[in-house]
Amino acid sequence: MLNTTATVFNIQRFSVDDGPGIRTTVFFKGCPLSCIWCHNPESHKRIPELMYNAQRCIGCGACSAACTHGGHVFADGIHKVVRDGCISCGACTGICPTKALEMAGREARVEDILREVLADKVFYEQSGGGMTVSGGEPLYQPAAAEALCHAAKDAGLHVAMETCGFASETVLRRVAAWVDLFLFDYKAPADVHQKLTGVPLAPILASIALLDSMQKDIILRCPIIPGCNDTDAHFDDIVRLANAYPSIREVHLEPYHPLGISKCEQLGCEALYENRSFLDAKDLSGRIAEMNARCTKRVRIS
Ligand code: SF4
Ligand code: SF4
Repeated sequence: MLNTTATVFNIQRFSVDDGPGIRTTVFFKGCPLSCIWCHNPESHKRIPELMYNAQRCIGCGACSAACTHGGHVFADGIHKVVRDGCISCGACTGICPTKALEMAGREARVEDILREVLADKVFYEQSGGGMTVSGGEPLYQPAAAEALCHAAKDAGLHVAMETCGFASETVLRRVAAWVDLFLFDYKAPADVHQKLTGVPLAPILASIALLDSMQKDIILRCPIIPGCNDTDAHFDDIVRLANAYPSIREVHLEPYHPLGISKCEQLGCEALYENRSFLDAKDLSGRIAEMNARCTKRVRIS
């Protein structure tokens, strides 16, 4: 079990927004959804990917010399990354003097991830924290997610999982056995869910119902994206859902931020939602008051 390998793109210590107390959040790479506003586009693909930040490049040419796959070309002094040639070996990243090149994602053994997580156990004990697995989508790597959560529980940690819930019943049941708290993303009404996220809503609703039947604590996390899901129908659905399931303890609204756009540029992919403005939490205060008036669970900004 501890020999299972996961593809992760970050292990973030001292997280305070991913569940109770001080936590270490392990970000799994790969996701079955493709939300047009995604804040972490480097999490989409399961494989490690090269990120290139043109603003940091000084044009030294070291990457071109290091790459044997034609991944970097210079024309008229302009540096271009040739994505078709890149095999994500990472050889150019270590040699770049300005960190303009970095790999998003690496393979890691569950045993090694757990060792890193346990380094801060004393902080979890003092603060009521623990480990959170996030992504990407951790359930997209079910064996690794189950192995890590199981091992963390055996080590006495509180385990939270941030998930979109798009997984089979078998996978969810197996992994949920080792998870105390789900931070469950709920993104859009059924009629636009496929268009905005690439998958239908029905399996996600089935996952909420399953976790409720297993009496797993759930915090509903709802990204609010102007022009996409900030509709009366969506806010009504959120309240209905929270009132329907006893396991849903709270609802967190997450205002849109545009930080995913620059990451798309660094990955060489197209940003499908080009809004570069932050949604101010104050703009949701009226909505939150109105939802709290009819929701049996607390609704707040995350
Ligand atoms: S090694 Fe780094 S700084 Fe030098 S040309 Fe390549 S990306 Fe730019
Ligand atoms: S990651 Fe490897 S293949 Fe891709 S550009 Fe860098 S050296 Fe070339």
